[in-house]
Amino acid sequence: MFTFPDRMKQFLLFMAVICLYAGTQAQDRPLVVVGIVVDQMSNEYLNRFNKDFGDDGFRKLMNGGTYFPNTYFNYVPTATGPGHASIYSGSNPSGHGIVGNRWFDRKESALTYCVSDRNTKGVNGESTVGQRSPTNLKGAAIGDMLKLSSSGKSKVYSLSIKDRSAILPGGYRADLALWWDDVSGKWTTSDYYVGKLPDWLDEFEKTNAADNYLFTWNYDEGSNIDVDLKNHDAFEESFKGSEKTGFPHDLRALYEVEGFGVLKYSPFVNTYTFDLAKTMIRKSGLGTDYNPDIISISFSGTDYIGHRFGPYSEEIRDTYIRFDRDLGDFIRFLETEFGGDFVLFLTSDHGVMPNSEFLKSTKIQSQRFDYKELKLQIKDQLKARYGSENIFMSLVENQVYLNEEELKRLGLDVNSVEDFLADFLQGIVGLNVVLTAHDLMHKNYTRFPEVLIQNGFEKERSGNLVFVLEPFTDDAEYTKGAGHGSPYEYDRHVPLIFYGRGITKGKCYYGNVDITQIAPSIADILKISRPPFCTSPSLTDIITTP
Ligand SMILES: [Zn+2]
Repeated sequence: MFTFPDRMKQFLLFMAVICLYAGTQAQDRPLVVVGIVVDQMSNEYLNRFNKDFGDDGFRKLMNGGTYFPNTYFNYVPTATGPGHASIYSGSNPSGHGIVGNRWFDRKESALTYCVSDRNTKGVNGESTVGQRSPTNLKGAAIGDMLKLSSSGKSKVYSLSIKDRSAILPGGYRADLALWWDDVSGKWTTSDYYVGKLPDWLDEFEKTNAADNYLFTWNYDEGSNIDVDLKNHDAFEESFKGSEKTGFPHDLRALYEVEGFGVLKYSPFVNTYTFDLAKTMIRKSGLGTDYNPDIISISFSGTDYIGHRFGPYSEEIRDTYIRFDRDLGDFIRFLETEFGGDFVLFLTSDHGVMPNSEFLKSTKIQSQRFDYKELKLQIKDQLKARYGSENIFMSLVENQVYLNEEELKRLGLDVNSVEDFLADFLQGIVGLNVVLTAHDLMHKNYTRFPEVLIQNGFEKERSGNLVFVLEPFTDDAEYTKGAGHGSPYEYDRHVPLIFYGRGITKGKCYYGNVDITQIAPSIADILKISRPPFCTSPSLTDIITTP
């Protein structure tokens, strides 16, 4: 009778254990988690444009997954940097510390950008677009926890046109985060991640140069012209070197004036991002072993287009019709690639306020707020009261910073100067609520919008005074296009959909949920620990039960 030698027996037993282990792992967790952030996507778009969508994109996710139509950001400012950090860290700015796209750095005595890092440089030697890393993120992101749990074997990738939307989702241990340089028209990264761009990116750029996406943008074939949206043209900003704001937009001609930047203001930049995402997934071997991987993809074109044309423009409608089709194509790609063994979530980093002049044209009250004038008034007040306008340091993203050196020199108590300015600011037309840093550190706010200010407040980085404007109030520097950043419904109400393996199909949960509940849900799905500042309950019970 044939018998295996002992060593062979040991080997077979070992292989059996490995297979069993791999088998249970594969059953427990999806191969890949795909995070999709659609920059500046209001939840309302899923309703308003639903009739224009096909069956394979947003509708497929809603019908085949679990949809949360009442998902909210629970802090101000509602902006891209804080938004992406909150989604992927499961905490708000009071924890993760990304208190704005920019803030005033007291140690450096200068404005700082949320992902700037002078200790890094671009892999192509770029200083302006290359000095980037997640170093300002406090704690960690979900990808970091996945790396820790897998001894670094799980892969973490991210990409976006905007650097901050690629870097913050990737966390500290991303294998690679790619963003786009609109001057060279090429994708890039910093030496924080790699010393050199991967060869596959070179190949991709050969077949998919930015130049290939400079089409003429007109109504999508088959979609009806919406006359009401056409009337919105007067409230839209035109491309540089062009007077008109309506279709068609000839990107190749506009490129001559604005350079590759024109691509960001067209739906083709989203197609470009999808194309790179597919290549990144294939070439970096995502989902090819039993260590689950994460890829985060953030689509910035929707934000650029929203800023320039506004939420009630024909451009934004057309952008979502095209995005829906690209999304359908991408879901098919994922299904082919991973055989359905993936979990996808789709959400946004903030909403948007309609154009102020457009609102007024519809009889809704709206106003513009003059920040330049406010700065002058603050200086005047400080000079009149304390004899020095140098006490004022900076006003950025509704945060007022005081000059601590000057306060010391004058022997002034910072709390009383904060109180004095708060009293003054409270009387300014267009300003709703102002809170001081010392109150934010010592009181516990529960009502709206104070609680949102507190959730967005971080003691080292936030201002001495933080304020929010009245609803439907926007920056007086602009009259065209649209903006965001406020605590109001339109800026913080976004969609959230989970889809894929193990996710309940065709469920719509109408309860209010918080944007910080995504990361703990992904932690449950991947069976890993949550990032350090994450205290929100997960949605796992809702998304995995009928
Ligand atoms: Zn924006």
